[in-house]
Amino acid sequence: MPTFEVARSMILSSVSPLGVERVELMAALGRVVAEDVTAPWDLPVYDNSAMDGFAVRAADCRVGGSLRITGYIPAGGAATPGIEPGCAVRIMTGAPIPPGCDAVVPVEETEPTDDAVLLRERVKHPQHIRFRGEDVRSGDTVVSAGAILRPPEISMLASFGKATVPVHRRARVAVLSTGDELIELGEQPGSGKIINSNALSLAAAVREIGAEPVILGIARDNRESHREKMAEGLKADALITSAGVSAGDRDLVRDCLAELEVRQLFWKVDIKPGGPVAFGMKEGKPVFSLPGNPVSTMVTFEELVRPALLKMMGHRRVIKPYVQATLRGEVHKKPGRVHFVRVRIEVENGVHWATSAGDQNTGILGTMLRANGIAVLPKEKTVFSPGEEVAVHLLHGDVGMLEE
Ligand code: AMP
Ligand code: MG
Repeated sequence: MPTFEVARSMILSSVSPLGVERVELMAALGRVVAEDVTAPWDLPVYDNSAMDGFAVRAADCRVGGSLRITGYIPAGGAATPGIEPGCAVRIMTGAPIPPGCDAVVPVEETEPTDDAVLLRERVKHPQHIRFRGEDVRSGDTVVSAGAILRPPEISMLASFGKATVPVHRRARVAVLSTGDELIELGEQPGSGKIINSNALSLAAAVREIGAEPVILGIARDNRESHREKMAEGLKADALITSAGVSAGDRDLVRDCLAELEVRQLFWKVDIKPGGPVAFGMKEGKPVFSLPGNPVSTMVTFEELVRPALLKMMGHRRVIKPYVQATLRGEVHKKPGRVHFVRVRIEVENGVHWATSAGDQNTGILGTMLRANGIAVLPKEKTVFSPGEEVAVHLLHGDVGMLEE
């Protein structure tokens, strides 16, 4: 039975980034750039004013002196021809600097007269000019392969007229639920029947990381139904099944995957919840068999599936960094397994505090809703005292979102 870290490494070394497609800039938000993008021109494109004021020749300027105004260039206007000695051109932010000018005097540092401008402060060249190419030179790499497209990357690419961008494909992830007890959303649960909520929680988790869920519905507890649905699922880039992976006589998932020539790399990991999880590969596609208990399903997705799907979509940093959080209360666990403890993290004066989010029984879904982190507690340690630090994976967002 692999340890948590070994299981995660086995999964990560089995999967590789998917192919590349070109998509429109806005559709690329959150996706990973697949090839270096270079600048086709300089940025800024031309020398321009950083202030509303007057374009001048610094050598003509002295405090208390005045310059004759011979022109006006608004933003969007064309540069005027060069200026005569002793003159100034009124200029707005972003407008091109006229040839010969080497400084801009902000309007706040001048006093206007009818057709001249009086200088109140010392003028140093090349003040308040943004020079052509000072940000980016033509040919520079502006966004590197592996970068995640966030608004700043979108801004950079848009500045260079890049209407489309090469990105890694989004993973299409098939989600298959198994079990005779399941009914679909919209039906009425009754004795022995529960709603197939895992299909929705998994699809949501898949979508949350930018992948594309394909909900396959329910495989009933017989081999034909399993095989039929699984064969369908193996057409996607990855298959996630839930339930039917323990040792019960109706737990058919592993057997049926084997019949479909999915090569099992492991079954059972020394973690809790999620112990019975299995992982296999077929023709480069990963198959994750998660336990059916809704909490176990979500936690194993978070800790084992999410990093793999991110890697497939070209992400480079796929394992969440741990946040060190200080326990408010005591936490106990049994030895022998890594425990994923659902915690509530609060940030006070820059310190992360962790409190148990409630009953840690895997049947308690409510605790999952109160949690905004998963404390990953090491295998052999059993008692964690108040004031002790634990390693936490934050859920659904970042630290900035924790303060209320
Ligand atoms: P199993 O591994 O098949 O024994 O299922 C473990 C537990 O998870 C059982 O209590 C199931 O009722 C529950 N479960 C299985 N599949 C789902 C599902 N798709 N949605 C919600 N709960 C489920
Ligand atoms: Mg079952």
